[in-house]
Amino acid sequence: MTDIAVIGGGIAGLSAAIYACRAGRSVVIFEGNMFGGQIVYAGRVENYPGIVSIMGPELADDLRNQAFALGAHSESRHVTGIEVHRDRKIVICGDAEHEFRSIIICTGTESRKLGLKNEELLTGRGVSYCAHCDGSFFKGKTVVIAGGGNTALDDGVYLKELCAKVYIVHRRSEFRGNPVTVKRLERTPNVEFILESEITALLGESELQGVTVRNKKTGATKNIACRGLFVAVGRVPKNNIFLPYVRLDGNGYIETDDEMRTATDGIFAAGDCRRKKLRQLVTAASDGAVAATKALEYLEADLKSAVYS
Ligand code: NAP
Repeated sequence: MTDIAVIGGGIAGLSAAIYACRAGRSVVIFEGNMFGGQIVYAGRVENYPGIVSIMGPELADDLRNQAFALGAHSESRHVTGIEVHRDRKIVICGDAEHEFRSIIICTGTESRKLGLKNEELLTGRGVSYCAHCDGSFFKGKTVVIAGGGNTALDDGVYLKELCAKVYIVHRRSEFRGNPVTVKRLERTPNVEFILESEITALLGESELQGVTVRNKKTGATKNIACRGLFVAVGRVPKNNIFLPYVRLDGNGYIETDDEMRTATDGIFAAGDCRRKKLRQLVTAASDGAVAATKALEYLEADLKSAVYS
C-alpha cells in the first residue's frame, strides 16, 4: 500500500510531498489540473523568503521537479471523494479507487463566482477568473474587473497595459486592497473606478458583449460594452467531498489543529483549504511540511501498533 496520498499539487501539496519523499515514504500526488495551483497564475512572486523575485509558473515548475526528483508519483485525476476503513484510506476518482495508509488534503480554494445568469456559459467566452492567463485575448479592448481586493487591483495594473479601457466595479466606496495600488490606478488615464456598484447582468448570447451595472445607492443601472469580464471577488474552499471525515467551519474550511490533524486519524489538511488566518505561499509551504512530518509520525505509530497487536 502506498504510504501517503497528497490531494492537490499546489505549494502545500508539493511541499508535503517533498518532506515525505525525503523521509523515504512513497507518495502519490493527485492533481486534476496544473501543478503549482494558484502560483501558476500569480505573475511575479516577490514575497517568498530567499527568492528575491521569480515568476509564479517557474516556481511551480521548480517545486514539481523537486518533488518528482525525490520520488513522488502523480495521478492526473480529480478526486471525487475519500473513504476510511480503519487504517486503510481510500481515495476515490470517479469509478477508480486507490488505497493509502494516510492522506494529506491540500485542495486550496477555487474562484468565487458572481452567481449571474449565463456566467458559466460565458466563461471562456469573455468571462474569466484569471487576468494573467486570459488578459492577452483582450488586447486593445474594453474590459471590466469585478472586485475590490488586491487581486482585482493587481488585475487592473496588469490589464491597463494591454487593454484600451479598464473599468473596476466594486460594491463599496473604499477598496479593500492596497491603497498604494489604488492611488496608482487612480492616476492611470485608461482605468475608471465604478464604486458602490454591482454587476447585475451579463450581456451577450454566445460571447460577452457587455455588463449591466447597478449603483447600490441610487438604484440606477447602466450597460457597459466590454469584451472581457475578469471576476476577482475572492476564493472559496471545495471541501465537501471530504465529509464526514473532516470537520468544516462555517465558511467551508477544514478544521485542523496546529499540527494539521483533521477529525480523522491519519488524515491531515494543509494550505489554503484549512481554517487559518494568513493564506500565503510561505504559510502553505509551512503547512505542507508540518502535515508531512505528522503523517510520518502517524505511519510510524501505525506500523508499531500493527507489529505489537
Ligand atoms: P479578497 O481580499 O477577499 O477580496 C475580494 C473582493 O471581492 C472584496 O473587495 C469583496 O468585497 C469583493 N466581493 C466578494 N464577493 C463579492 C460578490 N459576490 N460580488 C461582488 N464583489 C464581491 O480576495 P482577493 O482580492 O482575491 O485576495 C485574497 C487574498 O490574497 C487577500 O488576502 C489578498 O490581500 C491576497 N493577495 C495579495 C496580493 C498581493 O500582495 N499583491 C495579490 C492578490 C491577492 P468587500 O470588500 O465588500 O468584501
